[in-house]
Amino acid sequence: MEKIFISKHPLVAHKLSLIRRVSTEPRKFRELVRELSILLAYEATQDLKIQPSEVQTPLGVAQGFELQDKIGLVPILRSGLGMVEGIWEFMPSAEVWHIGIYRDEATLKPVEYYNKLPVEPTVSLCLILDPMLATGGSAVATVDVLKKWGVRRIKFVGLIAAPEGIANLQQHHPDVPIHLAVVDERLNDNGYIIPGLGDAGDRQFGTG
Ligand code: URA
Repeated sequence: MEKIFISKHPLVAHKLSLIRRVSTEPRKFRELVRELSILLAYEATQDLKIQPSEVQTPLGVAQGFELQDKIGLVPILRSGLGMVEGIWEFMPSAEVWHIGIYRDEATLKPVEYYNKLPVEPTVSLCLILDPMLATGGSAVATVDVLKKWGVRRIKFVGLIAAPEGIANLQQHHPDVPIHLAVVDERLNDNGYIIPGLGDAGDRQFGTG
């Protein structure tokens, strides 16, 4: 479990309780996805590479730092989309790359349907964003694509995980750290996390 990071931040715990509530309507749900994503991504990026540089202030020269990492945000469509905006605000130079993978409802296996990555990687660190790490199939498939692209450092950032999803991602990609708000009990027969929060896509986009 050494690469699994569960947030201990009280704000994360509080907001997680709000987002789980069946009565939380889509507007509030989206706001909470955004806020939780910022808090979790803040924790997940504590090891970003920086280089010392001098800064001229109005009164002198101060020690400054410049970010060295080029960050790629990779939301798993569609429920990962709501996680992008807030994170992008605090790291505006990040690139956002879309890889379309859906879960076949019959087999629960991932199917790739969209990928426009250029030949060479343009980023040094990718954050895969998905509120729900359920079976882990989409996360494993997305890491496969990013590794094939040539990205060496990849992290997964999500709100709620099932033990099954963590095990799957760790088995296939033990080098990928997993940053979460919480780990729930289990998956049900339809691949939903119990108790979870329901369908994160439907709840964000009002399609449930
Ligand atoms: N995707 C969701 O949106 N919710 C789950 O519980 C599992 C997968």
